[in-house]
Amino acid sequence: MQEVQTDIKEVKLYIDGEYIQSSTNSTYEVKNPATQQVIARVHEASYEDVDAACRAARRAFEDGPWRTMPLAERCAKIRRMGEIILERKEELARLEAMDVGKPYPVALEKEIPRAAHNLTFFADFMEKQGGEVYPMGDEYLNYTRYEPVGVAGLITPWNLPFMLTTWKLGPCLAAGNTAVIKPAEITPLTVSLLGEIAKEAGIPDGVVNVIQGFGSNSTGEYLTTHPEVDLISFTGETTTGKAIMKNGADTLKRVAFELGGKAANIVFEDANLDKTIPVSIQAAFLNSGQVCLAGSRILVQRSIMDEFVERFKKAASELKVGDPQDRTTNMGPVVSEEHYNKVTSYLEIAKQENATLVYGGKRPVLPSHLENGYYLEPTIYIQENPNARICQEEIFGPVVTIIPFETEEEALEIANNTDYGLNGVVWTDNLQRAHRISHHVRAGTIWVNCWFIRDLRAPFGGFKKSGIGREGGHHSLEFFTEAKNICIALK
Ligand code: NAD
Repeated sequence: MQEVQTDIKEVKLYIDGEYIQSSTNSTYEVKNPATQQVIARVHEASYEDVDAACRAARRAFEDGPWRTMPLAERCAKIRRMGEIILERKEELARLEAMDVGKPYPVALEKEIPRAAHNLTFFADFMEKQGGEVYPMGDEYLNYTRYEPVGVAGLITPWNLPFMLTTWKLGPCLAAGNTAVIKPAEITPLTVSLLGEIAKEAGIPDGVVNVIQGFGSNSTGEYLTTHPEVDLISFTGETTTGKAIMKNGADTLKRVAFELGGKAANIVFEDANLDKTIPVSIQAAFLNSGQVCLAGSRILVQRSIMDEFVERFKKAASELKVGDPQDRTTNMGPVVSEEHYNKVTSYLEIAKQENATLVYGGKRPVLPSHLENGYYLEPTIYIQENPNARICQEEIFGPVVTIIPFETEEEALEIANNTDYGLNGVVWTDNLQRAHRISHHVRAGTIWVNCWFIRDLRAPFGGFKKSGIGREGGHHSLEFFTEAKNICIALK
């Protein structure tokens, strides 16, 4: 069993029920984004290692008892995984906070429990599924079975590593598939433990494999081109989704993509600002704005612009930026040096585009142990031009843009003026308007007078360049199953 440690942790691959080293002995370092201290040395999976993981998953699928065991038994083991995650939640939350730079309480109280729920939910959901029978009189019995597809490649990003991986693993396993998981290269810690958690829960070796490494020309690409992999569930950037689609084409892989977003958070003049402001602050700066669902374009009706800007700025100034391990911290650093450089490059772009800086835009003053961390103040701009790059491109950091509008029609036009369509948020007390906007914003999820409220039965996914397919409830199960029609002559 690997241990949580504050010194450098060795992250190995988990293949066929065992931790193994990279066959080429290639390793790389991962740093704590709050301090730049090296926290892990990670084994990078070579092609041979990826091949071994995919073959182990194939054997476990074809020969093993996993897909053929009684459903209740399979689901009990998945539920047990959820329980083990809760038993280890402090350790997992510490690791997630250290790896991603997110505040420890957010990991402990929200993300790790949600990860456990992702498993228990799909175990319960799967057990309640029925099939269809098509009555054909007395001559034939015609019915449908939902069977697992085979070996699934699960590829996840760095912003919510454990939560997003289990969101895929739950339905994947419940449907009877086997998995090869590849977490993001810069946040391997929590996901690296999923193999041993599965084993402790009684899940057979080879069903859950975890490989580590980079994307393009590396582990990720080897997985998406491997002939033993039948389907790829991917969450990450839109450009990566395009590459995976091309790479998976030769072996005709089934794909589901959850991609980038640039959500409009639309505030009408009749909104209750006492509710709108604190939730919009969350939508802007939770996880340092590194959330695909972030309300990063805040559309505000011009009649309330001054009041909104003043109050939003004040609320942003009250966020405590600091050490992710400190319970009172509201916002940590961004995840890495590379990402810090990307996010801060938008400060220069905003200046060139004549955006008005309302708040932030610099490194916060922090205690000396955090002086090397990748920190940026919560940063707010006003930009009148909705075509400006800061209104169009996914910055994925603590940088938001307020865009004024006059009418409902204009708000809709600006909201839909984007390549993305993951989600939208509407603040209004007008019921008809709430419905109208919800119908006409082209996005997969619309929240009215709330944000990030999820029911795992509901579909989740993006319009336009924000994704292909839906996760959640039966939508996830459809992706992870093959529907088979059986027709039996009764005479
Ligand atoms: P990314 O696309 O750079 O990386 C995601 C994963 O893909 C990583 O594991 C990476 O190693 C792997 N990868 C990269 N290139 C690959 C390739 N050619 N072949 C196979 N695998 C490859 O994304 P990121 O920077 O880790 O995450 C941030 C992005 O994720 C943002 O765009 C964000 O909006 C998106 N995201 C979307 C959702 C959603 O539900 N829609 C949720 C979270 C994050």
